[in-house]
Amino acid sequence: MDNILEVKGLTKQYTTVLAVDNISFNIKAGEIFALIGSNGAGKTTTIRMISTLIKPTSGDATVNGFSVTKQPEKVRECITYLPDEAGAYKNMKGTAYLKFMAGLFTDDSAKIDEYVSRAVEICGLKERLNDKIGTYSRGMIRKLLLARAVMNKPKLAILDEPTSGLDVLNAMEIRRMIKKLAKEDGTAFLLSSHNMLEIEFVSDRVGIVAGGHLMTEGAVPELKARYNTSNLEEVFERVVLNHEVL
Ligand code: ATP
Repeated sequence: MDNILEVKGLTKQYTTVLAVDNISFNIKAGEIFALIGSNGAGKTTTIRMISTLIKPTSGDATVNGFSVTKQPEKVRECITYLPDEAGAYKNMKGTAYLKFMAGLFTDDSAKIDEYVSRAVEICGLKERLNDKIGTYSRGMIRKLLLARAVMNKPKLAILDEPTSGLDVLNAMEIRRMIKKLAKEDGTAFLLSSHNMLEIEFVSDRVGIVAGGHLMTEGAVPELKARYNTSNLEEVFERVVLNHEVL
């Protein structure tokens, strides 16, 4: 299967901080890849470079063959980025919000209808879509935003902390939604999360970031076997605290 995302030596030097140092990894169509790391490890900086929001100091990444440094506008047509603290217009009703967002992707009214009906189905909010977003719970807003993010079947969906602050059942529903979209639509997902249970359930491969470096990567069962541990938390501890890179 082809790589949708190819990250090649991405590096970001802020004035005094080397936030990301020569990170490389790939994600294939339909694959879910999670970046995990301690606070300040460099996950969001990596994600923001791939999302074309900030420029790398050196290195590059391609999405569907387009370079984030040389063809950022082409990259933006293939990706969706859902930041950790994303919000939606509180005074808009759910359906109106989805129509408005679909209209940013295309002028074609048939396509707008198609995107909206897809998002309505994905979010599962049913008649609550007739209410103002200001009356939604956090979990409902997150479902609406996720549906908005994937309504036009992007090649790559980048989700920062997709379930942070959600209760167990809502979080489970969103994880299932992500798996289904990867499998059925072939969307590649790049996630970041601090929730190891979530990562074990949802991701095909994981990259552990520390101090701006990608320390190790692999499928969760591979990593557990490599580090001879029973869970991902212990792998994480050994890589990040004990600097064991196997
Ligand atoms: P968290 O899990 O806390 O969200 P993270 O892994 O996403 O952390 P980043 O936000 O990428 O980490 O930050 C990596 C490093 O870069 C940190 O040392 C941070 O202080 C620094 N940094 C991030 N943004 C900037 C900026 N705009 N200017 C200067 N330094 C920054």
